[in-house]
Amino acid sequence: MTLTLHAMRQVANDPQRDEVLIPAYTCYSVPASIERAGLRPRLCDIDPETLGIDPQALDRCDFSRVLAVVTANLYGLPNELTAIEDIARRRGVFLLDDAAQALGARLSGRAVGTFGDAGLYSFDKGKIISTMQGGVILSRGSAVETALDAVLRSVEPGSRSTSFLDIAKLAAYALCLRPTLYGRIRRLPFLGLGQTVYETRFPLHRLGGPQMGVAAVLARRIDELNDQRRRNAARLAESLEDAPGLKLPRLASGAEAVYARFPIRITHPEQRERTLAALDRAGIGASASYPRALADVPEVAAQLRSPADHMPGARLLASQIMTLPTHGYCPDDLAARVRKVLEQTLSG
Ligand SMILES: *Cc1c(COP(=O)(O)O)cnc(C)c1O
Repeated sequence: MTLTLHAMRQVANDPQRDEVLIPAYTCYSVPASIERAGLRPRLCDIDPETLGIDPQALDRCDFSRVLAVVTANLYGLPNELTAIEDIARRRGVFLLDDAAQALGARLSGRAVGTFGDAGLYSFDKGKIISTMQGGVILSRGSAVETALDAVLRSVEPGSRSTSFLDIAKLAAYALCLRPTLYGRIRRLPFLGLGQTVYETRFPLHRLGGPQMGVAAVLARRIDELNDQRRRNAARLAESLEDAPGLKLPRLASGAEAVYARFPIRITHPEQRERTLAALDRAGIGASASYPRALADVPEVAAQLRSPADHMPGARLLASQIMTLPTHGYCPDDLAARVRKVLEQTLSG
């Protein structure tokens, strides 16, 4: 994202355009990448039902210093990308389609990650496919693509030893993905799972050869992996549809999601911690997602040119969201077990 923003900055060639409009609820790496690129975030509220930028809120934003808009497509749920792309085009700013968690998702038949001027897929832990670090940048047929070629040529490849160490970690991660072991891996500190940190001092280099090999092997299985996730998500949706005290996500029209995880909202935030603890005891790897709306992350607030507006959608989502696993190691009765635990913790 940092490198893509560098390329966009070069093409715009306007020092006044130093802001990047991002959803007020997304991965903390997004504002950290923006700071690393020497730019400032500007926040746009989200719709807690779709987890994505609310197009109406986007249209009300101040674009006077905006270089680019960034989407989120959290947990593989496509944002309202057609509307967002329209607004970006109308306002004369770039669109970076952040599909970090959405490799394989589509909107109206078009791959998520291919909207706007550039997109990206992440291969970090917990994404659709993982090589522990790295990812892919997409851009085609625009000035941004040409600028990206030059930016990427200036970046060194990663060292072989870092690459092999990542693959060793990946093996530990894959072995432990089974839900019953998830509690145990969350305690393996070198994996850093379940932590949300704002870090701007990350290494910037090209994906190493060994990791590219792993990515290529996993990419060949992408349809099979995503079909499993979709099946598991459909079972969870069916089982939880009418459960009291929770809300299921709403898909944008024309969306084919991939469900990196299955996000739900616990209507009463005070019941969420209790529910997470109960699911953990039942050996189900639920987690609470990013803990705060970006307006409430001090490192992000410090970067804003003017204080953020109220951001009710992002704050509500941060207080309610919980995510359930969808990966291929999920047992067949996962949905029924989740339903049983939720009925106990959410009753009354
Ligand atoms: C994980 C993630 C990123 C960052 O990707 P890394 O490869 O971990 O740097 C960016 N955006 C979103 C929405 C993410 O989920």
